[in-house]
This record gives sequence, structure tokens and C-alpha cells, in this order.
Amino acid sequence: MRADGAASLADARRTLSVVVPFYNEGANVAALLARLVPALDGLGLDWDIVAVNDGSADDTLERLLAARAREPRLKIVDLSRNFGKERCLSAGLAYARGQAVVMIDADLQHPPETIQALVARWHAGDEVVYAVRESRADQTWTARLLSRAFYAVFDRLSEVPVPRGAGDFRLLDRQVVDVINRMPERTRFMKGIYSWVGFRQSGVSYREEARHRGESKWPVIGLMRLAIDGLTAFSNFPLRVWTLVGAAISSLAFLYIVYRLLRVVIYGIDVPGYESIIMIVLFLGGVQLLTLGIIGDYIGRIFAEVKGRPLYIVRRAYGADEPSDTAD
Ligand code: UDP
Ligand code: MG
Repeated sequence: MRADGAASLADARRTLSVVVPFYNEGANVAALLARLVPALDGLGLDWDIVAVNDGSADDTLERLLAARAREPRLKIVDLSRNFGKERCLSAGLAYARGQAVVMIDADLQHPPETIQALVARWHAGDEVVYAVRESRADQTWTARLLSRAFYAVFDRLSEVPVPRGAGDFRLLDRQVVDVINRMPERTRFMKGIYSWVGFRQSGVSYREEARHRGESKWPVIGLMRLAIDGLTAFSNFPLRVWTLVGAAISSLAFLYIVYRLLRVVIYGIDVPGYESIIMIVLFLGGVQLLTLGIIGDYIGRIFAEVKGRPLYIVRRAYGADEPSDTAD
């Protein structure tokens, strides 16, 4: 019985798809494949690569097509425009066919050799194996501080904790990929989604390398938007906290009313009071606008979800079959 179980696990864990998002990475195509292909060949698995071109404005697609002419295991999914890394990865997950899928950046910051360690954990039975960054050389101290603050808040507020230092560089078993593909939400905060789905998860550490060519596509403002997406997609706390604030302000206001009435009864009517009125009006006006803004943010997200537009649009897929079972 046990031997059977082990044999079927090994049978079900023989093919691997590697999803790589490309946005203006023409200068990295050749260098990435020169390291990725030997690393994959060394695994003793059947593999393919699903390169997703996220609306690059440079020669990324041409270079990918040229590489595909020599390496048919390189499949290409060409998106109609730039949809952002999270949706680009969703496209890759939908087109990947392997019994496991590894996602890796195109800029060689994620060493392809680490895939071996991810696969070893998968073969040992784990269903999600994430690569954990040992240190981040390219990060400025502001970015580091902001990211630390974000995780502290996120862990406190969200339904699920997110492991530190783990990003999209990870292996997902087919079962997990199928679940993620069927998730209908338009706000793809992948870090949250990976944790939310559960399954047997573990981490493997890796040393992040410097970007091979080109520059990072994540300006600080983009990271902040991602942080807000993450918080609102995985927590209702920003909506609910106003109930508490409202209750606290109402209680204080009630006490203040009692105090003013008593004063009137005891000392008679006293006209000055301009400051207190102004302070209360301004304070409450501010709180109300803030609350409205937050409700508006959630409504905007509901609107985006209700429109139900596809997550991404594929112009053409080279060598990759149509995805079968996705929420779109
Ligand atoms: N990327 C993408 N679409 C985008 C931005 C980035 O597909 O809109 C890809 C990019 O080509 C790279 C990966 O996502 O393969 C990580 O991007 P980047 O290196 O710019 O991010 P960083 O490493 O600085 O976090
Ligand atoms: Mg990078």
C-alpha cells in the first residue's frame, strides 16, 4: 500500500513547466536560456518553458521566436499589451501543462539552478515550494523599510500570513495551479493567493543575483499600489474599523453633550464656544471623508470585479495549447 502510494507520487511528478514573464527583457533572453535550459536538462524530467511576453516594446518577442526555432520546448504566449507581472503570470499558469509549474523572473535575479532544490522538495511530497531570498542587495533602505512595514500590517489584518522574502519564484503542484486558475478575482495579489490556497508548503532559500540587463520595472508608486491591492483584497479591516471609530466618537460626543447640558443647567447659557464647534466640525468632516474614500476604493474594486473582463488578452500562442479550465 505504501509502496503504491510512493510509486504513484513519482508517476504524477514527472513533467515540469517553467513560466517566465518578459517585459522589455530582450537583452536577457539569450542569457536566461543559456542558464535555464542546462539547469532543466539536469533534472531528469520532461520540461517545457512558457515564456509570456507582457506587451514588450523592445525586441523581446523576436528574440524569443528566434530561440524557439532552435529550442521547440520553448513555448511563447504573446499578450496584446502590457498587463503587469501578476496577470502575466496568470496567463502563464493557464497555458502551462506540466505536473508542476515553476515561475521565475526573466532577468536572472532568480538563479535557475535553485529549481533543482524546489523540485527535490516537490518529489518529497510538498505541493508548494517557495524560494526565500536570503538578502536583497539591490533594495534601497526606504524600500526595505516600506516592505517591512507592509508585511507587519498585512500579517495583522489579512486572513492569511505571507512568508517573508518569498515572492513569485516558486514551484506549484498541478493541483494548486488548477485551483489558482479557477480563482475568478481580477485583483491578482499573488503573494496573498499563494498563501490563501493552503496545501503543504515549504521554503528553500536562495541568494538573489543582480539583474542581468535592463532595469527594474517596479517604481515605488507601483509597489505602493500593489501594497494597497494586497491589503484590500485580503482584508475587510479598512472597511470595518470605522464602525469602531464611529462608536468611540459617538460615546465621547454623548459624554460631552451631558457635560454641556449640566453646565447650562448649573451656570446658565454661555455663548463662547467657537473653537470647540470648529474643531468638532473639522474633525468629523475629516473622518467622514476618509471613510467615504475607503468605501469608494472598495466599490471601485467591486466594479472592476463585476465588469468581469478577462485578466489578459492573448494575441497569439506559439506552441502552447489553449488553456482549458480557467475562470475567464
Ligand atoms: N514583468 C512583467 N510585466 C511587468 C513588469 C515586470 O512581466 O509589467 C516581469 C519582468 O520582465 C521580470 C519580472 O516581471 O521578468 C520581474 O520584474 P523586475 O525585474 O522589473 O522586478 P524586480 O526584480 O525589480 O522586483
Ligand atoms: Mg528583477
